[in-house]
Amino acid sequence: MLEVAGLKVFHGPIEAVHGIDLAVGQGTCVSLLGPNGAGKTSTLGAIVGSVRHEGAIRLDGRDLGRMAIEDRFREGIALCPEGRRIFNNLSVHDNLRMGAATRRDAKGVAADIDDWFARFPILGERRDQSAGTLSGGEQQMLAIARALLSRPRILLLDEPSLGLAPLIIRQVFELIAELRRDGMTILLVEQNASAAVEVSDRVYVMANGVIRRAGAAAEFGDGSGLMDELTGVH
Ligand code: ATP
Repeated sequence: MLEVAGLKVFHGPIEAVHGIDLAVGQGTCVSLLGPNGAGKTSTLGAIVGSVRHEGAIRLDGRDLGRMAIEDRFREGIALCPEGRRIFNNLSVHDNLRMGAATRRDAKGVAADIDDWFARFPILGERRDQSAGTLSGGEQQMLAIARALLSRPRILLLDEPSLGLAPLIIRQVFELIAELRRDGMTILLVEQNASAAVEVSDRVYVMANGVIRRAGAAAEFGDGSGLMDELTGVH
């Protein structure tokens, strides 16, 4: 479904990603793992079109590589960014509506928002409260829900477990597993290798701007040791 081929990413004169290939099949969850600075966020930035890049980015065969960021969004790519980036001063409800800004089916949007409130009652209880007052875990759920409100064809998640307590991390990964079961296509960037491997069909391991290893999630066991191995490489 999503195919990336020969992708290079640049930050000014610096080449951060050196021609990688990766693919995410329809309805699968694929993890992109690796230490800080490996080039994971840069790769997601290239897919959404927020950083300069070269190479092919195809969604169901259509090359998005030269499209503007908003056109890629319309094509069905949604990013839940690192650090959540919710709108602190907007209410929970308005944050969700922002995610649906390009949709014309007001009733469908309202129904989707109600579904999220049913799924996470705490968000429903705080629908009129500013989102900045939520806990980190609640903000992460809100950020994922907001990204999904555009009804994307593929969801890109950048380190959703970052900075959260272990119990909350488990809830975040449970949500990812549920979304996958419901048929969502997901590209997950993580440093929490064990949890990511568990919810994934395929895994790519990245370091220093290249893919070091790729394979079915089952080949990675429980994922433990993967990051130690990589830190040695780094
Ligand atoms: P992290 O988990 O820290 O986000 P990452 O694997 O996502 O790590 P990137 O953020 O993609 O890695 O960074 C890859 C490389 O590009 C690093 O060497 C980083 O210093 C560099 N880089 C990232 N963003 C910029 C930028 N805006 N300007 C210059 N260099 C950048």
